[in-house]
This record gives sequence, structure tokens and C-alpha cells, in this order.
Amino acid sequence: MLDDTIAAISTPLGYSGIGIVRLSGKDSIKITDRIFVSPKKKTLNQTPSHRIVYGYIVDSNKEIIDEVLVSVMHAPYTYTKEDVVEINCHGGPVPLRRVLELVLKNGARLTEPGEFTRRAFLNGRIDLAQAEAVLDVINALTEQSQKAAIEQLRGGISKKIETTREELVELTAFVEAYIDFPEEDIEPLSIKDMKEMALKVQQSLKQLIDSSRYGVILREGIRTAIIGRPNVGKSSLLNAFLEHDRAIVTEVPGTTRDVIEDYLNIQGLPVRIMDTAGIREVENIAEKEGVKRSLKAMKEADLVLVILDGSEDLHETDRELIEKSSSKNTILVINKIDIPQKINLNFQKKVVRVSALKGTGLDELKDEIVETALKDKTVCGIGDSYRTGIVTNIRHVNALKRALASVDSFIEGVTKKTFPEFLSVELRDALDAIGEIIGITTSEDILNKIFSNFCIGK
Ligand code: GDP
Repeated sequence: MLDDTIAAISTPLGYSGIGIVRLSGKDSIKITDRIFVSPKKKTLNQTPSHRIVYGYIVDSNKEIIDEVLVSVMHAPYTYTKEDVVEINCHGGPVPLRRVLELVLKNGARLTEPGEFTRRAFLNGRIDLAQAEAVLDVINALTEQSQKAAIEQLRGGISKKIETTREELVELTAFVEAYIDFPEEDIEPLSIKDMKEMALKVQQSLKQLIDSSRYGVILREGIRTAIIGRPNVGKSSLLNAFLEHDRAIVTEVPGTTRDVIEDYLNIQGLPVRIMDTAGIREVENIAEKEGVKRSLKAMKEADLVLVILDGSEDLHETDRELIEKSSSKNTILVINKIDIPQKINLNFQKKVVRVSALKGTGLDELKDEIVETALKDKTVCGIGDSYRTGIVTNIRHVNALKRALASVDSFIEGVTKKTFPEFLSVELRDALDAIGEIIGITTSEDILNKIFSNFCIGK
């Protein structure tokens, strides 16, 4: 499969200054030369690697399709480790499609989603965790998320996984040496060594899993439900937040669209507000209906903000919501503190007092959101931890947990002096699980699933 040449439009299909048609594969340069003319009669074939050539893309009748700059990059120092050509066209759907059609007509095949990155992985330039990080960099919700993704792309996680894997390989070899000589008993000294080695691996796995508590939040966001009776100020609070903390800011020149409405950026953490549409539909909603909605939003939330109206007595509905949310990470928020207060609360829970209208108490609420979501900041390593690599991807977390379970069983087995054959099975399982993260033992199905999340040109 890898001997064909693939091509796609690698920039969004819209109207922009430039748009890029990218090719990768051994015929990339030959194919582009068939449709490219340079005023100075240069051919891409004669162009040294990593140079840009000016010219035109022409069809078989020599009609000029677009004026372009073509980047020529020879294998292996390219994104895919194959010959890569990037045709910088004018960024409109029609020129881009016409250029792509010509490229395809002249011998390239349209890529599958993520196929460029898949080739980078299959050709050994990056491992699977790094390939996944490409998408995470693109989709990052906040600056902090993006830093973690870049760190993963640079191999931060892979290095840690690789180190742990090597320790595990060493241990497996040690254990399996006994399988080859079944008549020999395992010496007590060896048992001690095995256990020590396994404990070290166990420790590394635990640390990686621990880091994911913060990491997964960075990648996925904290799913937060804002709940409360009608008119307590849910939508006012949401708006007050959105004004300052929208994750993707509209004001950045050139990013007028694609605003991710539902995300807030609170101290670098992406906070995803569930059911923003429901919160905003304020028109005389019946209390019963409001509660139903609140409970629905709460179901999938990691964090729940129960909003109460401080200017009123506590309603039965308020009590119901507080009670129903008690199994969740909850913050009680008393709103409307700018007007005379009537509410009388005697709950054990932490309460934050705000005025959505005047903006008072919002900073305190944000601190509380971060603190409640992360619980123990020191364990999660908030701050500069993204520099050393943290696990952000749920797929990785699950693989690590499987590896840990196997290592736990191994340690239990060693303690009970189980036969090495059984013990080695546990270690092999752990190795497979860890290998899945960086793509050593990953099945085709998982690979397909991962790369299908990419866009066509990436
Ligand atoms: P929701 O139904 O829970 O989304 O409530 P809204 O956000 O629509 O607010 C209901 C009413 O309370 C509106 O008239 C708001 O202006 C008012 N309100 C919201 N927050 C405050 C606040 O902090 N102080 C005061 N005085 N009024 C508020």
C-alpha cells in the first residue's frame, strides 16, 4: 500500500489567502511535474530538496489553473519520511479542487483521513502517541492543553512509556529464563529481585496514571453542569463567564468563526459547560421542566454548580437539586448577593457567593472550580507538569490501567510463588497493553479508529 502516492487538500475548504494541496509518496515530484510549468523552465525533478519554486499549474490543454508556489521535500526529512510536495494555491474551493483533481488524474490517490500522519507513523518517524498528539495540537482547547499536546508530540510521553516498557522487558526476560529450566527452583534471591523490579514498574505506571487526572482534563475539558431553578441566574452567570473566559476568543483577528461556544478557559483548564442551549432558553420555563433539564445535564457532568438565589428563601426544589447532586463534585453558588439576602443555608458544603450581574465573586468561584475539579493539586502536578509529559489521552489511561492490573497480579503471584509460566503471561499482557500506547502492539482496528478522527489532509 505504501508504494502509492497520496494527495489531499490540507487546508480548510473556505476562502483564504492560500490553500495547500499536499502529495506524499515516491511519485509526488513526478506527478506534480506533469502539471507544473515554471516561467524559468525549472522542473521540480531538478529542484534540490526543501526549496520552493514559483510557477503555474496547467491542465492537459495547457490552460492555467492557478498561480502557485511549490515546495519540494525529498525523503526522508519530511512529514511522512516520503517525498512530499506541497502546492500552495490560492485559497478558494474552486482552484484547490481543480488542482487536486489534476493531481489525482495524473497518478495520485485521494488520501484517507489522517493518512499523512499514519504514514509518518508507519514509516517510523513518530510513534502512535506522537501521531495522536498531532490531532491534539490542532484541537487544543486552551493554551495549557496545547502545551501538553506539543510535549506529547515531541515524545515526552513516549519516552516515559518506553522507559517503563524497557524495565518490563528486562523483568520478563528474567522471569522467562526460569521457564527454560523448569527443573530449577527459583532462588529466594531472584524472587526478591523480581519483586523489586516489578514494584519499580508498578510505581512508574501509577505515576503515569496519576498524571492523567490533570492531563485528561486538559484534553477533554471538565464537563460542568450549571443547574438551578428558573431565574436563579444560570444564564447570567454563564454570560458573565463567557465575556471573559471563552476558550477560543473571537477577537483574535481572522478567527471570526468557529468559536467553541461551550468552553470556558479557567486558569488554563478547559471547562465545558453542558447544555448551554438549555441554560439560555429562559422564557418562562416551568420549574418542573427546569429541574428535569438540570438533572439531565448533571448526569454526565464531572462538576456541578448548583445555583441558588440569595435574595429568596431556599425552595424545596433547591433542596432537591442539592440532594440529587450530592454524589457529584459539587459547588453551591449563591447568586444575587448585590441585593438584600434572605437565604439561610446550613450545609456542610463549600459555598461561594457571587453576583452574576455585577461580576462579584467570580474569581473566587473560578478558584473553587479548579480546586474542586483537580482536588489535590500537588498530586496532579498542576503548573509546569506539561513540560515533563503527562498522560492526556483516555486510550492511554485505559492501557496503563490494564498494564498495572497485570503487574499487580504478577506481584501477587511472585509473593505466592506461582509458577513462572503463569507469571510470564501477566507480564506479556502488561507489555502488550503498554505497547498499544506507542503503537508496537496496536491492532489494525484501533489504528483505523484513531486515524479516522483526523481530517482528510492531515
Ligand atoms: P436563569 O433562568 O437561571 O438562567 O436566570 P437568568 O440568568 O435568566 O436570571 C433571571 C433574572 O435574575 C434576570 O432578570 C437577571 O437579570 C436576574 N439576575 C441574575 N443574576 C443576578 C444578580 O447577580 N443580581 C441581581 N440583582 N439580579 C440577577
